[in-house]
Amino acid sequence: MVGRRHLTVLGATGSIGLSTLDVVRRHPDRFSVYALTAGTKASELAALCREFAPAYAVMADEKAAAELQALLADFPATQVLAGESGLVQVASDEACSTVMAAIVGAAGLVPTLAAVRAGKRVLLANKEALVMSGQLFMDAVAESGAELLPIDSEHNAIFQCMPADKVRDPAGAGITRILLTASGGPFRELAADKLRDVTPAQACAHPNWSMGRKISVDSATLMNKGLELIEACWLFNTTPASVEVHVHPESIIHSMVEYADGSVLAQMGSPDMRTPIANGLAWPERIDAGVAPLDLFAIGRFHFERPDLARFPCLRLAAEAFAAGGTAPAVLNAANEMAVAAFLDGGLCFADIPVIIEKTLLSVAVAPADSFDTIFAKDSEARDVARALLSSC
Ligand code: NAD
Ligand code: MG
Repeated sequence: MVGRRHLTVLGATGSIGLSTLDVVRRHPDRFSVYALTAGTKASELAALCREFAPAYAVMADEKAAAELQALLADFPATQVLAGESGLVQVASDEACSTVMAAIVGAAGLVPTLAAVRAGKRVLLANKEALVMSGQLFMDAVAESGAELLPIDSEHNAIFQCMPADKVRDPAGAGITRILLTASGGPFRELAADKLRDVTPAQACAHPNWSMGRKISVDSATLMNKGLELIEACWLFNTTPASVEVHVHPESIIHSMVEYADGSVLAQMGSPDMRTPIANGLAWPERIDAGVAPLDLFAIGRFHFERPDLARFPCLRLAAEAFAAGGTAPAVLNAANEMAVAAFLDGGLCFADIPVIIEKTLLSVAVAPADSFDTIFAKDSEARDVARALLSSC
């Protein structure tokens, strides 16, 4: 075992953040918590600080930071910071070795990048950061020597099915295809005309996984699989032609890797994010994640089907944005975040999520992704376009 890992959890109050802390709680000899961060929920972060006694707690929201400061007035072990500068500080501080990047959406890019540039072990759950900035992000990883480990269950599965020294050279390992599995989401069997009436509560009730609201909606539209297709191409240095989405409603096989000799390696497990989180935290060792053993007799059968791109156009839109290249995936991501937020607020029907994204992609010109400033400018331009589209529909 290497020395004790000092961990910063970006997005500690979220679904991934809490699962991470659950694994950490089981291994006090291996991990200490250096910093915890959250967006707005001061009382939830205060409770976590009292349990894990991090050196720092950061609230992205300034008002929430003042609230946290008051809540922790009698707890001097933890110093409270505020805003993006606080997030960057705890993601890159020398005293921390490992960063769980689990902020949702584009808000995670700057702190995740700070961890990458500081050469940390970066456990990447925040797929939007990589989708937005692709090549620039991977170049930053290569330059700093950061250790980037995938936490998204599919990408962690693929990683586990590859030789560790060939993660960026799958062809060199004799890998012919990546089979990216998808649950199909809660509306997999719903007729197209019924998709107009589904509610946020129905969209967030995922059949197999318990997740944050944004990714739950992404799972229901299949945008999550589209983002994951792009994520797989960057992480494993491959192209969409070598990645095939397989809908697998049981969510037991988390993805597969096909080799030239006809072997297909699969990683299986209960649908519980603590497995990929524990894999990333302890890699290359294996530790208890608190996950119940898999009971294949109880599951009985596995099913596979092709994704239905007519009912779920978001997967096609993501593939097209990746093919367009440059800033197109950042625009896709920004438009999706705006459309999903509008749907969750009751201001957009489910079936119009892809409509807003497609119109935004058509309105924002693709530019070369030559700097992070260009990415942020396109993200903001896409949000303005999507906002205008949303206000007129
Ligand atoms: P969540 O909504 O449950 O939690 C998000 C966390 O980010 C919270 O701690 C929140 O306070 C923080 N946050 C939100 N907005 C912020 C902002 N503007 N600035 C700083 N912090 C902010 O989300 P989640 O389901 O835990 O997902 C987190 C990330 O992990 C997403 O990128 C998601 O795609 C990815 N992911 C999640 C799962 C899952 O099972 N939940 C699986 C794979 C990947
Ligand atoms: Mg996933």
